[in-house]
Amino acid sequence: MSALPPARLAAFTCVTLVAAVLGAGSAGRASAARRPASPSRIEHALPQLWIADVGGCSAPTPLAQAVNPQPVNITGRAPNELGRIPIMEYHRIWNPEAPWQRSTAGFRRDLERLYAAGFRSVSLGDLLANRIDLPLGASPVVFTFDDSYVSQLWFTADGTPASDSAVGIMQRFAAEHPDFGLHGVFYITWNTLFGGPGARNTDKLRYLVDHGFELGNHTISHPDLSHGTTASVQKELGQEQALVRQALGGYEMQTMALPYGNWPRDRGLAQAGAAGDAAYHFQAILQVGSEPAPAPASAAYNPLVLPRVQAGEQSLSYWLSWFDQHPDERYVSDGDVNVLAFPARLSNRLRPDAAQHWTLRPY
Ligand SMILES: [Zn+2]
Repeated sequence: MSALPPARLAAFTCVTLVAAVLGAGSAGRASAARRPASPSRIEHALPQLWIADVGGCSAPTPLAQAVNPQPVNITGRAPNELGRIPIMEYHRIWNPEAPWQRSTAGFRRDLERLYAAGFRSVSLGDLLANRIDLPLGASPVVFTFDDSYVSQLWFTADGTPASDSAVGIMQRFAAEHPDFGLHGVFYITWNTLFGGPGARNTDKLRYLVDHGFELGNHTISHPDLSHGTTASVQKELGQEQALVRQALGGYEMQTMALPYGNWPRDRGLAQAGAAGDAAYHFQAILQVGSEPAPAPASAAYNPLVLPRVQAGEQSLSYWLSWFDQHPDERYVSDGDVNVLAFPARLSNRLRPDAAQHWTLRPY
């Protein structure tokens, strides 16, 4: 084992790159000795070595065959859990394509393109909890839907989501691609709540929560919070928090999205406050636009200022191409939720307390 060179994965293009789980070897210890002072939980070995089948991408190497179980790298990409994560921001899912409106076919195509590019859906809750649990080689994507438009969730006569609604499109795609995952955060505005004024449908909120989706606070009436008073900002957020809590038996929305992306003058009120006894305290604040978010283990990560990617044909093309051109910027899972694997040259990106949350594995 120790005769094997350290993996230099960036140069490999074969999509059948496989990962072999190997025991600690002298090569790993030698490599560790070259690294700068390491946090205590860095593993001083290379227990995982990614081996490229450069001979035609058809069969595993004899060495890889000898190891069992053998995780398959679904993209052939080297793990980099310090890369960025697209948090997609959708509004209406309706036809035709328009500003703030993704066509139904376009949304379906987004899912197909992301899937083909090796992205898999994760919940925002798991991201915030440092629990991005994906197979080796996969990249996370988070879906968010703002403003609780009816096109995001409406039901047919039999009580199931319409196949052309955002939820229906996602459910059908997940049924066809079970490994894609089925997650999304709905940033609801109580005054619309999927049905428009006068048609509040808390059954839809219940449906979403019961089917594993998340709800987030997007205020009662979608005001520009930068023009709000201390009282009005807290009323918009606190009352919506209380209404959802009441409608769903105590459900607590953990995150909020800023209407129009605008902050209140007192930024702290976007995270925590109270209107009477209607209090709120969010783990994350999502902005409008405009780039993939830093990884949770990165020093640049700040859940209280999370950027998003505006969904759209050109936008998705841009960011998929950007990730291809900047492979170090793409989050790629190592397949182990407890281990943080990344190229050693990116160690300066680590947040200071990373070793308290993960076993660090630079390579
Ligand atoms: Zn909005």
